[in-house]
Amino acid sequence: MTHITRRGALATGLTAAAVTASCSTTAMSSASSGRTPFQIASTTIPIVGSDDVCPVRRIYCIGRNYREHSVEMGSNPDREPPFFFQKPTDAIQHVPAGTVADHPYPTLTKNYHYEAELVAVIGKGGKNIPTAQALEHVWGYSLGLDMTRRDLQRAMGDEKKPWEIGKSFDHSAVIGAVHRAAQTGHFTKGAIWLKVNGQTKQSADLSQMIWSVAEQVSKLSEANELFPGDLIYSGTPANVGPVVRGDVIEMHIDGLPNLSVRVV
Ligand code: MN
Repeated sequence: MTHITRRGALATGLTAAAVTASCSTTAMSSASSGRTPFQIASTTIPIVGSDDVCPVRRIYCIGRNYREHSVEMGSNPDREPPFFFQKPTDAIQHVPAGTVADHPYPTLTKNYHYEAELVAVIGKGGKNIPTAQALEHVWGYSLGLDMTRRDLQRAMGDEKKPWEIGKSFDHSAVIGAVHRAAQTGHFTKGAIWLKVNGQTKQSADLSQMIWSVAEQVSKLSEANELFPGDLIYSGTPANVGPVVRGDVIEMHIDGLPNLSVRVV
């Protein structure tokens, strides 16, 4: 098994300092210096071309950000402002490029869906960030899967209850390594696709996003102050669908190595 997150590195003073230096310019939060009765694992993602790792602070996801997907989910893509939800930080499952990681089929669902997405990594925080400056706050990019218990998401939505159980669960934020924007440039166009067992399911272009990454950063920063290490899953194209145990998911974004998992 080549899977699961880089959660082994406990936040000792040494590793926390190294991590902060690698991917951020300011302290992530106001941590107390008091002793703790137990330790919790930090969540980090490898950075391509470096031994450094990127610390993950929050995971934001934008909903219904491609016209065709918005329609398939029953929304009006012309009127809906961008909206966001979160996954827990430790929902990250990092998948090294060139590997096929085992991805556990979650409990409680009978309709487990993939959503292929571009992921933006915030490197400089801020609030009320203008769209014109927003990309200056994006440090890097990756590609990921916003895995979804669709039956539970829909059932909760129908009852006007939170999506939490459908979106925010262990291993639900699959992601590749982080690529520095300084090396890749910013992602405003390019193919994004997803295959299941070699068969194309999703295929679109990043330019078809209703709200660009810059606009997402700007809008999100009106709702919450952003900090280094925040991730933004930027929405999925149309034709989401189910997987079952044994299926192999492969996804692609032009300019990034493919990401693959086997559902187990
Ligand atoms: Mn999504």
